[in-house]
Amino acid sequence: TPLLNRSLHLLRDQAYINGKWIGGEKNETFPIYNPVNQSVIKNVPDMDVKDTRLAINAASEAFKSFSKTTAKERSDLLRNWYNLMVEHTEELAEILTKENGKSIAESKAEIKYGNSFVEWFSEEARRIEGTILQTPISNRKLLLYKEPIGVAALITPWNFPHAMITRKAAAALAAGCTCVIKPSEETPLTALALADLAEKAGFPHGTVNVITTSLKNSPNVGRELCENPNVKVLSFTGSTAVGKILYKQSASTIKRLCLELGGNASFIVFDSANLDIAVQGAMLSKFRNCGQTCVSANRFFVHSSKFDQFIEMFLSKIQSDIKMGDGSKKEVTHGPLIKESQLNMTRALITDAVEKGAKVHCGGTPLPELGPLFYAPTLITDVTKEMQIYNKEIFGPIAVIHKFETENEVIENSNNTPVGLAGYFYSQDISQIFRVAKQLEVGMVGINEGIISTAEAAFGGVKESGLGREGSRHGVEDFLEIKYVCLGNL
Ligand code: ADP
Repeated sequence: TPLLNRSLHLLRDQAYINGKWIGGEKNETFPIYNPVNQSVIKNVPDMDVKDTRLAINAASEAFKSFSKTTAKERSDLLRNWYNLMVEHTEELAEILTKENGKSIAESKAEIKYGNSFVEWFSEEARRIEGTILQTPISNRKLLLYKEPIGVAALITPWNFPHAMITRKAAAALAAGCTCVIKPSEETPLTALALADLAEKAGFPHGTVNVITTSLKNSPNVGRELCENPNVKVLSFTGSTAVGKILYKQSASTIKRLCLELGGNASFIVFDSANLDIAVQGAMLSKFRNCGQTCVSANRFFVHSSKFDQFIEMFLSKIQSDIKMGDGSKKEVTHGPLIKESQLNMTRALITDAVEKGAKVHCGGTPLPELGPLFYAPTLITDVTKEMQIYNKEIFGPIAVIHKFETENEVIENSNNTPVGLAGYFYSQDISQIFRVAKQLEVGMVGINEGIISTAEAAFGGVKESGLGREGSRHGVEDFLEIKYVCLGNL
């Protein structure tokens, strides 16, 4: 396609530390593959602990002056960054599709979403306010200041290479923190493109740093980010397993943590639901990014009165709306999975379920004719507790559909998991809507909507899905300390 042959000015192959584009101290690199055909897009520096310290030191040094900038100055910088991102949407989308595989339409949607956090926090920067308190002793004045906490380490995943960075970095920068960003080893090119635009936006040297690491070095780099006393907050989006490692390691420095971890979203269709709307929501919530998102619908529960009809409508929508292939082609809606381990996991879950009696209504196989990492959108029923897929975060294009009878039963099943990120349900019964929304043990509830995330609202989970909230006016809180100042004997 002509798109991919165009030269991409934002496609960088060096890391960005202290305002310089550099390689790693050991001069090693690792390849970034296009998941569509395994071609190498670029080789980037494979950085290690020494490079990480360099970045942390640069961010610490920059913090001294950046923390003293006015909110208006930081707001302007973020606004410049936002404008540049908007201006370069096409190019960012091409880079994102190349390294992640999602379709150009999905990449553009992510960029719009990711940019919205930079816009939002450029506005919020000017509304970070302290408080003057009532005093119990008349000759005192009690003040609460909000101060930036210090250097922020941001570790991000491959499923939203743009938005997971902007959602964290824009909040950190708005608060007056400087950051060291460690993107996923699968998708560092989008992160480097964002650093390029941050440089053009005028962020001072050392305020935004991006270090690139292979999977081999990620644990060591991760440990340094947790244990280095100059890093004051760590914000991570990724798997619950890695989140737990970071939590443990961060004990060494009592580091502030913001963790956005895995989910196991239920998607409940009650008997009063409008099925057209429910199926539309199901398509987006399940198959966006081929199911590789932490808020993807993971367990469908459909009331017995609507079960057959829902499956029939869902099936026909999958067949009519999904066109898999090379995401850079205009007509393609869904690309490949990101890497072999994702494909193997998807395949293993289906094999196990089928062996134990699950019924496959569509898909259920890889699509090697399209490329080595394609897996067909799959719908299965008759899934039981004995199957691995029953209570696992699938992270692939598999819709598991269960039948239920009563509201109590479905709420209990829905909550029967150690995680609680998003939950969705469809109902036209207003009392039921309030009842169920209250009882779901999750951080975010979508009612008659399958895609709910937006810069204005608080994103985050309960239970083992994490700590803290991103976006909204609460998103800056992780990057701020409260200082209490008492003026006495006035
Ligand atoms: P996924 O399973 O979706 O790839 P991960 O949690 O493994 O999610 O990855 C999310 C981010 O965490 C990536 O940037 C990855 O490099 C990083 N990561 C993986 N292992 C570690 C680790 N031990 N310490 C710190 N970061 C890690």
